[in-house]
Amino acid sequence: MTMIGDNLQTVRARIATACQAARRDAGAVTLLAVSKTFGPEAVREAFAAGQTAFGENYLQEAVDKMSALRDLPLQWHCIGPIQSNKTRLVAEHFSWAHTIDRLRVAQRLNDQRPPDLAPLQVCVQVNIDAGPTKSGVAPQDALWLVREVAELPRLQVRGLMTIPDSRPDFQRQVAVHAKAKDLFDAIAAAGGRGLDHFDTLSMGMTADLEAAIQAGSTMVRIGTAIFGGRPKP
Ligand SMILES: *Cc1c(COP(=O)(O)O)cnc(C)c1O
Repeated sequence: MTMIGDNLQTVRARIATACQAARRDAGAVTLLAVSKTFGPEAVREAFAAGQTAFGENYLQEAVDKMSALRDLPLQWHCIGPIQSNKTRLVAEHFSWAHTIDRLRVAQRLNDQRPPDLAPLQVCVQVNIDAGPTKSGVAPQDALWLVREVAELPRLQVRGLMTIPDSRPDFQRQVAVHAKAKDLFDAIAAAGGRGLDHFDTLSMGMTADLEAAIQAGSTMVRIGTAIFGGRPKP
């Protein structure tokens, strides 16, 4: 077993333990392996250890990696900011985009999604802790944006995504993730046309995956614990 394979086992065990602690089904949480800054060989190692879903932040890097790995059946998730002049790369190459925070970007992705591909699976990013410089729609605007995106035929709205600032202790991490869970539940309950697949709450990273699962995350995005540390940008 390689180091990345070992790390994946450790992360899967963390997820299983957290699910147990939260009295949730072990299968209720999907692991997204965040491979940004790591090369195709690292992704191959993770694939050999059973991982198929990968998250990337930097579009050109991601597309180059995809092309080096086109022999593998991988599912790619865009988890980085999407500028409106870069939507085509996302529409043409990814299965998922987690960072929809403007209708304009969603509309462009919808227009540019190739007809031979399945609809792009998307999450609306919410600025859950109201960091002034952070991306994400304000919580009070999330329902509106979800409903607008649900009208776009080439996108399938799957849920919400958040990146709260790191907090020093477990209880405070749970508290901020719980706000996202409440918002997610409220939108799911409000429902509406095109919301029948609204089932994904993308939250939790290496430092706070247990708290995110405790609060109700259905997809954790894990980089460091699988691939190791990254150079600071
Ligand atoms: C880099 C990144 C991650 C992974 O973070 P780790 O702390 O390395 O697990 C998750 N989500 C987003 C949006 C990221 O940019």
